[in-house]
Amino acid sequence: MEEIKSFKDLDREVVEKGICGKCGGCVSFCSAGELNALEMTENDMPRYINEDNCQKCGICYMICPQTGTLNVELQEKFGWKPPIGDYQKVTSAQTTDKKIRKICTDGGVVTSLLLYLLERNLINGAIVSKKAGRFTRKAVIARTREDLIEAAGSTFSGSLHLEELGGKYTTYTPILSTVKSLEKRYLQDVAVVGTPCQINAIRKMQCLGIIPAHLIKFTIGLFCIENFSFDDVARERLEKKLDINLESIVKLNIKDDFIITMTSGVTIHVPLEEIDDVARTACFACQDFSNEYADISVGGLGSPDGYTTTLLRTKLGSSVYDEALHRGYIQERTFEDSEESKLEKTKMMAKIVSYSRRKRMRAEKKLSKLAGGEMLGEKN
Ligand SMILES: Cc1cc2nc3c(=O)[nH]c(=O)nc-3n(C[C@H](O)[C@H](O)[C@H](O)COP(=O)(O)OP(=O)(O)OC[C@H]3O[C@@H](n4cnc5c(N)ncnc54)[C@H](O)[C@@H]3O)c2cc1C
Ligand code: SF4
Ligand code: SF4
Ligand code: SF4
Repeated sequence: MEEIKSFKDLDREVVEKGICGKCGGCVSFCSAGELNALEMTENDMPRYINEDNCQKCGICYMICPQTGTLNVELQEKFGWKPPIGDYQKVTSAQTTDKKIRKICTDGGVVTSLLLYLLERNLINGAIVSKKAGRFTRKAVIARTREDLIEAAGSTFSGSLHLEELGGKYTTYTPILSTVKSLEKRYLQDVAVVGTPCQINAIRKMQCLGIIPAHLIKFTIGLFCIENFSFDDVARERLEKKLDINLESIVKLNIKDDFIITMTSGVTIHVPLEEIDDVARTACFACQDFSNEYADISVGGLGSPDGYTTTLLRTKLGSSVYDEALHRGYIQERTFEDSEESKLEKTKMMAKIVSYSRRKRMRAEKKLSKLAGGEMLGEKN
């Protein structure tokens, strides 16, 4: 009989190798199930809080997005096909709400779809990531239009200064730590916005029928080439390299490259390779760019400014999108004629496929080095 792997194996194969993405999935399940063997450290890494409580159930290992377990089951369940998983349609769309349009990251599709779901009572909450400082966000459960609008966009609050964050800056939000509180809050139907690693862990929990993942009824997955995390030393290095003051940034975005908008209104485009040294180490071992198991996947890549590239993947994703479109929450980019529409959509897909391949190749290279004995260690 095959031996069940426990947190000890997860620690050795993922955490110690430096490829833990800090999604919090393992800790979230272990504490939601009242097993309480794990905790997140101050540095957002999982560790045993009480090893005696460990039942060696192996679930933390199975749901970790970095172990590859349950991948076959997920592929079957979602009809995965190369190169980017299953999808019904690709579109370029934007919100019709002027307030959302002003603050959103790309086209405000994420916030508008969530608003549609909330206002039609199809969900009673959405796990989103709200600004908590210049470079940090925290996971919250949005239950009103105001909550959703507070979480929209990728601008930064001017109310906190870099120094107040204790020298740690990150664009990553561990949203899964919020999942465990859903039942206690009597929320029945919840939507989640997350990076591919986070949606992957949720899908694995749903595959195993783990409570409280059954309360998550809708997933919006962000495209993600990488996330960033850095300290004071790296910050100084970065400021020097880019010749900017990070205090003067008002917005960050990633499309073809890394886009920085300064308080002066100037926009700087930085090739992704130039900021590799502040990307999180785990991201180099991550294979999913386009959020292959979400109901709807979104990004800026392939769309003009002010629009969100939207991949409708599941039947549920398509019907939510169509209804939100029909009820006027969102509108699609218009084209001169069907030829132009076809051409633009082909270009959009080519970009998504190209970034997906690039990310997969980068991960394969990193994972083969790890298999050969290289340890990444914890950098960020
Ligand atoms: C860390 C990160 C990396 C990304 N990388 C790429 C990329 O490489 N290429 C690309 O084309 N697009 C990328 N995106 C997606 C893109 O930046 C937009 O979020 C997406 O196009 C949706 O835009 P919107 O205007 O429709 O969203 P909005 O209506 O502005 O809503 C944004 C939603 O994202 C949530 N959110 C913001 N930050 C986070 C976070 N750190 N973790 C979880 N949720 C968050 C907010 O809570 C909000 O619900 C990335 C997004 C993030 C957060
Ligand atoms: S009890 Fe299960 S989920 Fe918790 S650490 Fe042990 S093996 Fe992992
Ligand atoms: S990637 Fe997520 S599930 Fe895996 S060890 Fe890290 S925190 Fe746990
Ligand atoms: S690249 Fe994105 S999806 Fe992958 S581990 Fe990093 S944050 Fe998660």
